[in-house]
Order: sequence, then structure tokens, then C-alpha cells
Amino acid sequence: MSTHKFATQALHAGHDVQANGGTRAVPIYQSTAYVFKDSDHAANLFALAEPGNIYTRINNPTNDILEQRLAALDGGIAAVVTASGTAAIATTLLTLLRAGDHIVASSSLYGGTYNLLSVTLPRHGITTTFVDPSDPENFDKAVQENTRVVFIESLGNPKLDVLDIKGISKAAKAHKIPLIVDNTIATSYLVKPIEHGANIVIHSLTKYVNGNGTALGGAIIDAGTFDWTNGKFPEFTEPSAGYHGLVYADVLKEASFIAKVRIEGLRDYGSALSPFNAFQIIQGLETLELRIKQHSKSALALAKWLQDQKEVTWVNYPGLDSSPYKALADKYLPEGQSGLVTFGVIGGYESAKTIADKTQLFSLLANIGDTKSLIIHPASTTHQQLSDEAQKTTGTTKDLIRLSVGLEHIDDLKADLKHAFSLIKAKAEA
Ligand SMILES: *Cc1c(COP(=O)(O)O)cnc(C)c1O
Repeated sequence: MSTHKFATQALHAGHDVQANGGTRAVPIYQSTAYVFKDSDHAANLFALAEPGNIYTRINNPTNDILEQRLAALDGGIAAVVTASGTAAIATTLLTLLRAGDHIVASSSLYGGTYNLLSVTLPRHGITTTFVDPSDPENFDKAVQENTRVVFIESLGNPKLDVLDIKGISKAAKAHKIPLIVDNTIATSYLVKPIEHGANIVIHSLTKYVNGNGTALGGAIIDAGTFDWTNGKFPEFTEPSAGYHGLVYADVLKEASFIAKVRIEGLRDYGSALSPFNAFQIIQGLETLELRIKQHSKSALALAKWLQDQKEVTWVNYPGLDSSPYKALADKYLPEGQSGLVTFGVIGGYESAKTIADKTQLFSLLANIGDTKSLIIHPASTTHQQLSDEAQKTTGTTKDLIRLSVGLEHIDDLKADLKHAFSLIKAKAEA
């Protein structure tokens, strides 16, 4: 399979048709548990002496196909799917870190991730230093003795900054710590962070991978490139009390991390993906390439059009010539820059709210990556809980409107926005 192109792997990777009853579509294995042949067989499975299914919180044949497919598409050695993108992030960090550990993270992050790192994990003794991600040296400078991971988004949400993954991976490597990249907005079609040095890739499958807003899901993909025996990760080199004395690095070698995510992380935190959702996500993944190309094309066209509207004060899209991230976009996202566009309007906070209220094709909701166009005003919604300072560092200015450009005809989207713009103008003149 590894020689096949992206579109082909998205349709076939991981699905052994004959081993699955000749099914052309991936079947839904809606079973909570699996019958053991006998007690010895069960004992072997629990001891990892032979592969097999035990309980759907740990593994499931439908999820397994999705996991193999996602690992293939991102160039990883294995993957674990989770109940949501948030579950993927939390399970990854809780698998790797313990109280006293430290994270260096990009300040330009999804609001939920920002809260996890800045508020919730500190309650468990895990702290984060957020850095301006535009210079890889900032990551290098923020690393402390107890730093154990670097966390970034390849394309920041909602700032839409393109990160220099290669430069940041070099900084992480110099300190012998892994680089984790949330690749949700770009998707593995537009950029494969592992090719640029990432050790772990995370996706919210809820967004472009599922693609039509019907199922939550997440994924953790292991590049298999990190040396867990370098002295900084005793959990991998000392007998695990959580798995009858297993020494991960000895037994599971380069797959130590992803194995620990499954056999301890899924077991203890319970973030399993429903096989029904895995099935839905597989339907979406089949057409990811076609969709993300069109989302990118429409978003660029709409961004250019927005630049010419007199109600619009600024437009941010990494593919625009005016974008400060254009050079990085050319390097990391040459096939397209995904479907999100942000812009500001005259009249600031109130006008932005009016536009979010008055568009009709663009649905006002807190999601992205849907086939249908979406709109939100982050300062009054998704990023409302953040302090003024945090809103600033995450790039969520008061006048910012975020569009998730869907697959409707671009003329209809323009007309919808134009109508909403006419209403703020009327308001301003009244
Ligand atoms: C949505 C999102 C998440 C969280 O994913 P859920 O599936 O909603 O839990 C994480 N990172 C990014 C970049 C996202 O856009």
C-alpha cells in the first residue's frame, strides 16, 4: 500500500477485504467485547503474547481499519483513534507527562487546547510556557530542564498562521524532546508533519476528515521516530506498574508510545471512539482529497473577493500574497491552505456580531471543516472565556470573523456575505 498515492490510500489502506467477509465498504463491528477461544487465549491477549481484540474501549476492527488508514496517510507507523480531537490531545499528554513536567506550546492554538494547557493541566502539576510561534528560536529558549514535549498546530486556529515545522522540530530535537503537531486544519493531504520532523501527529477527525458535521472523532499518529530511551522518559524504560512490569522500550521498541496510548491510555482514560463514528469518518475520509482541494480553492477565491469589499478592514488567508505567512504556506502548504478565512469589519465587535447573525447560507455555529459553510465571531463565543491578553496571543481580535468556507457555489456565498454587509452599513448610517 505504501507506494499508492493519497487518494488511493484514503479509499483502501487498512481494509483487508477477504478478512472482512468480502465487504467492499468497511463494516461496522458494533460489538463491545470479543469471545476468547479459551482461558489460555485470553491470558495471551492480556499478556500481549498474541494480537487480538479484548474490549472495544481498547480495540475494535472498524476502528483498526481507520487507524491503519490514517497512519498510512500521515506516514506514521501506527495510530489510535479517540472519541474526539480533544480526547486525542488529552490522552497523548496524559500518556507522556507526569506532575512536575512542562510543555512548550505555540500561543496560537485552538481555544479548547489553550484552556487544557493553561488551566486544567496545571491543576495536575503539568505546566505550559506559551511562545510566539513565528520564530523557532522562541521554542528553543523556552525549554526548561523539566520540559518533555513541544506542542504546535501546523496551521493555527483561528490565527491561520503557518508554522515552520522543520525549524521547530530541530529545536525540539536539540533538547531530545518530541514534537507534537495538531494537523487538524491543514489535514494530511495538505501537509504531512512527519516529513518535516514531527514525532506525533494529532487530528480532530470531527473537522475535514469526517467532513460533513455528523461525527466527533480524534486520532493520534505515531511517527515511530522518537528515542524514548534517551533518559527523559523513564515510563518507557522502567517496568510499568500499570501493565504488569512491562518495559515498553524493550518489548514495543519504536512503537512504545502508541502502544502505551492504547493499552494504558485508552484503558485508563476511556477515550474510545464509537465504531459507528469510525464508520462515518471512513465515509468522509474517502473523499478528503477532493473536498480539501475545493475548500482551499473556494477559500482563496473568497479571501481575494473580501479584500475588495469596502466594509472589510483586513483579510487573513495564508494563500494571499498579502499574508505574512505566504512564504511558509508556499513551503508547507503548496497544494492549498485549507478552508478557513478570517477577516475584520468596520464597526468592530458589534458589526462582526451582526454579520454572524445575518448571513443565511453561512450557519452560525462552533465547528469548522463542514461541507456546509460556517461562520463564527470567536470573541463572543469560542474564545469568550479567554482573558483579553489570551485573546490577543491566540489572535482573536474583537472584530475577527471566522469563515469555514464550504462547498456551495462561490457566487452564492458572496451574495450571502454582501447582504449581511449591507445591514451593518445600514446600522452604521442609522
Ligand atoms: C476542533 C479542534 C480540536 C478539538 O477537536 P474535537 O473533535 O472538537 O474535540 C483540536 N484542535 C483543533 C485545531 C481543532 O480545530
